[in-house]
Amino acid sequence: MPINNRIAAFQDDMTAWRRDIHAHPELGFEENRTADLVAAKLAEFGIAVHRGLGKTGVVGTLKGLGTGSGRAIGLRADMDALPMPEANDFDYASRHPGKMHACGHDGHTTMLLGAARYLAETRNFDGTVHFIFQPAEEGQGGGLRMIEEGLFTQFDCEQIYGLHNWPELPAGQIAVHPGPVMAAANQFEITVSGHGAHAAMPHRSIDPVLVSAHIITAAQSLVSRGTDPADSAVVSITVVDAGTAANVIPDSAILRGTMRTFSEATHRRIQEQFARLVSSIAEGFGAQAVLNFRPGYPATVNSEPEARVAAAAAAKVVGDENVIWAPAPTMAAEDFGYMLKERPGAYIWLGHGGHGGPGCRLHNPHYDFNDAILTTGASYWASLVETILPRSA
Ligand SMILES: [Zn+2]
Ligand SMILES: [Zn+2]
Repeated sequence: MPINNRIAAFQDDMTAWRRDIHAHPELGFEENRTADLVAAKLAEFGIAVHRGLGKTGVVGTLKGLGTGSGRAIGLRADMDALPMPEANDFDYASRHPGKMHACGHDGHTTMLLGAARYLAETRNFDGTVHFIFQPAEEGQGGGLRMIEEGLFTQFDCEQIYGLHNWPELPAGQIAVHPGPVMAAANQFEITVSGHGAHAAMPHRSIDPVLVSAHIITAAQSLVSRGTDPADSAVVSITVVDAGTAANVIPDSAILRGTMRTFSEATHRRIQEQFARLVSSIAEGFGAQAVLNFRPGYPATVNSEPEARVAAAAAAKVVGDENVIWAPAPTMAAEDFGYMLKERPGAYIWLGHGGHGGPGCRLHNPHYDFNDAILTTGASYWASLVETILPRSA
């Protein structure tokens, strides 16, 4: 390539699609207008469309001119917006109060549509491509729901690929991890039950606030003393909810937080240690504590051979010198982790650049997807397909 010339000619169209989606953000499992737009475009390009997996999910299926390989791969984009007000005032800012495309999923959807258009026009590959547009990436597990409803049995992909725009990375660069990219995350809640009393008569109480303080402090040892310094983990207690009056020791207290790791073994071990600490601290004070975990997304872990293929496909677009191999992963979490548990593949970071100053940060009310990288992302998708499914003749 570099930027595929044919895709470069889509710049104005793609910018218009992206801004249209940006102006009409929809939350997880409510992406009806967005899914209508995606399905209409795919059909217009001559791609077979399937709808309804994960409620609003859309899958487009395209066969290349070559048919001998019998191979199939999946490319995935996410369609949902965030429940937050937009602070931008350009003419395509959100028309839906309290909803905003602040994570760039409008751009992700558009780039996969751009690639679909190019691949449908050229079909210069041997095999099948499934374009997967998933709902509800922002915390609701729309990708998992598509899998549970038969994504990979109805559309058998031998490999699966995803991407996310990355504001910390300059536009024109692509980062690829040969292993973990994002962390596994869970949430937990601890209910500490003691015995309330007048604050002037603490000896009549079992103080759940004091017990909570010890639990919060002890939780800091899970990473600092219990985890290999070369491994990574986070335990954050972010909610402390107890008491209503300065002169009343309450009956109970509630703590909430989140735990993040890259490995499942570390995740399990920290959960077990935490459970032991919580119950023994409570018992030591004569209180009771119940700890519940709500599992979240698994870690997003690339398989190395597919990561190498993704890096090679990226290099054809942005040049070897602009492919960042094996940068540090992040403790944020991604629904795509579920897909990578089902199939080998790779999830890459597409350089987005800081075009908007502080407003370029993901989940920031001033964020706006950088339209200048639409053709880079679409060209990467096209390059990936032509690299993995080459036509021999
Ligand atoms: Zn996000
Ligand atoms: Zn996102």
